[in-house]
Order: sequence, then structure tokens, then C-alpha cells
Amino acid sequence: MKEIVTFGGGTNGTAMLINMVKYQIKPDEILFSDTGGENPYTYEHIAEMNKWLQSKNFPLIQTLRYKTKNGDELTLEQDCLNNNTIPPVAFGWKTCSQKFKIQPVEKYLKAKYPTEKLRIWVGFDAGEERRIKANPNENFENYYPLIYWGWDREKCIEVIQNTGLKQPGKSSCFFCPNMRKNEILRLPDDLKDRAIAMEKNATKLAEIKGLGRNKSWTDVINADRSQLKIDWDEEDWHQPVCECID
Ligand code: SF4
Repeated sequence: MKEIVTFGGGTNGTAMLINMVKYQIKPDEILFSDTGGENPYTYEHIAEMNKWLQSKNFPLIQTLRYKTKNGDELTLEQDCLNNNTIPPVAFGWKTCSQKFKIQPVEKYLKAKYPTEKLRIWVGFDAGEERRIKANPNENFENYYPLIYWGWDREKCIEVIQNTGLKQPGKSSCFFCPNMRKNEILRLPDDLKDRAIAMEKNATKLAEIKGLGRNKSWTDVINADRSQLKIDWDEEDWHQPVCECID
């Protein structure tokens, strides 16, 4: 059985790797799916983690990206721009995580290990049990070590702190409709502008108003820039409905 870590680039995945290093559970592969629109701090963290993993004689994190039938790389942001829309998770569909996160990993693994059994390490933490599910691929078996170890998010943060590594923060696309208001307002200006451009280009929004579903990020960002207050109900934002891992 091959051991495959799917690394999300955030707190959970980092804590999971730290414990694997501690107990010398060396995986065969550590894979990170890059939508092309991850937060800049996540890209920085992956570079830092690779230095650390190398110092521990562990495999390095390998980045995978979605490719079209022609073999060209396509980012989620460009896909949204091409289709005059925003990430499908805003409409309650999981297809952006399926297409840009899950599919590149599955494709890579099926090509490399066509017949072998694979155990897929997934960094959902204790508290995310609702997200557990069997892997639909016959040769793949999902394994949720953080849940098995009883590690919640606070424990993951503590473990990272004790190791001396920088806290990675939450990983997601910088335009993810699951983001909360404070996360949006903390984005660098250039990324705020790209999110506004995505909303402006999105002519196929049906009933929703924008990346904030019943709110447009453009309004929220512009109100903040003009130092105006805008109401924002955070309740809907706390439970990810996608399959992205942190
Ligand atoms: S982080 Fe958000 S926008 Fe990006 S793939 Fe996941 S659900 Fe979609």
C-alpha cells in the first residue's frame, strides 16, 4: 500500500506532516493541488515547508495543476473569467474543488499507480467529521489521521507553534466565496482588484449578487475603502460545502 498525503497548504495539513515527521511515517508522495489562485502566503508556506521537509529527509511537496484536454494549464480564475462566472461553490456546487483540487490528484495517481492500493491522507480535523467519506476510486482508501488522533484546529495550531514553523493560516483561493468578511478585507489590494474584476466580468450569476452570494465583494471592498460600514451576516460562511482541504 502506498501512502499519499494530500496537502492543502494550511494549518491542518502542516500539523499532519509534523506528526508524520515526528513518528517517521514517511509517505510515498505529498501532493498539493494548486488552483492558480491560492493566497500568496500559501505559496510562501509551501516553499518553507519544502525546506523543512528536506531537512527532515522527507519527500517534498509536489504541486499539481488542472490541465485541459490539450494539455494546457488552466487556473480556476481564468476558467471563471472565460465563462463569465464566479467559482461554482458560490451557487452551492462543489465543482471547483472537484475540478481544480481533486481531479489533478486523481489523474496523477491513476497514471502513476494504475493497479496499486493507495491510502490517501486527508487533513480534516477533529470537528470536521461530517466531511468524512469513502473514496469513490476502487484502489484509493481515504484516511483522516487528525480525526483519528483527535486533533482539532487549536491542537494543530499548538503543534505548529511548538515546532517553530510559521503559522500557515487558512488555505483557500483568494476569491473563495467561503471567505469571511475579515479575510476579504485582509487581502492585498491587487487581489481585491482581481476579485472585483471577476465579479464585474460575471454576467451569469442568476439570483446571487456576487462572490458573497447575497452580497457582492465589490460593495464590501469599496465600502471599506471609503470607510463606510456594510452589514454582513457571517453565519453562512462558517461551514465549507466544498471538498477543499486546509
Ligand atoms: S478554495 Fe473555494 S473557490 Fe477555491 S476551489 Fe475550493 S471551494 Fe472553490
